[in-house]
Amino acid sequence: MQKLDTRLDQLSHRERTLPVVEQVNEATTRVNTLEEDVVLARTAVGDVEREITKADQDVQLVRDRATRTQQRLDAGQGSPKDLQGMEHELQTLARRQNELEEIELEVMERAEGLRSDLGAAENALAKARERVDELTAQRDAALEDIERERGEVDGQRAALPASLPEPLVALYERVRQQRGGQGAAPLMQRRCGGCQLELNQADLSRIRAAAEDEVLRCEECGRILVRTSESGL
Ligand SMILES: [Zn+2]
Repeated sequence: MQKLDTRLDQLSHRERTLPVVEQVNEATTRVNTLEEDVVLARTAVGDVEREITKADQDVQLVRDRATRTQQRLDAGQGSPKDLQGMEHELQTLARRQNELEEIELEVMERAEGLRSDLGAAENALAKARERVDELTAQRDAALEDIERERGEVDGQRAALPASLPEPLVALYERVRQQRGGQGAAPLMQRRCGGCQLELNQADLSRIRAAAEDEVLRCEECGRILVRTSESGL
């Protein structure tokens, strides 16, 4: 009985100190951090994509205006001074378009870097989530092992006094605690197997007369006496 109790204590201790429990907590904290990283990276990509759209629109405005001016110039409408003004405008628009295209290119390069960052963050998050799943499965398996073993020990513990009727079990437990471990003893050659006291004739007569299922106890030590073929009755 005591051995089984010790085993139960060991199981509880193992359950409380499973290293994999702490590993699951750490991996979960890492997932939370990486989720924040992904949100930030996604926001940065969204922002830069709006910048690209804006830069593209800027370039397109200048390009459209240059196209219209070129058409008017090709049509040859207006005075020589007008035509000269249009040529000047086309040069200005071309320079402006170059500047804007450079800006757009710079934004697109930045976007590429940010998309790559987002991809890396998403990968890291996916791996961290897999790790949490693995560790959680390991933890659950370990806890299941402990629970199953606890069930076995409980079963063995329950089986010990199960063959005895209930009041006898209580008596056995009480005497066992009083006597520090042995609650019952065989009656051997008229002696109590617990305290070794030899029973007197009166006790022996009483025991002989007792019904088979009567609970007998040693007068000296109080242990439950178990009759055997060697009791000497
Ligand atoms: Zn005794």
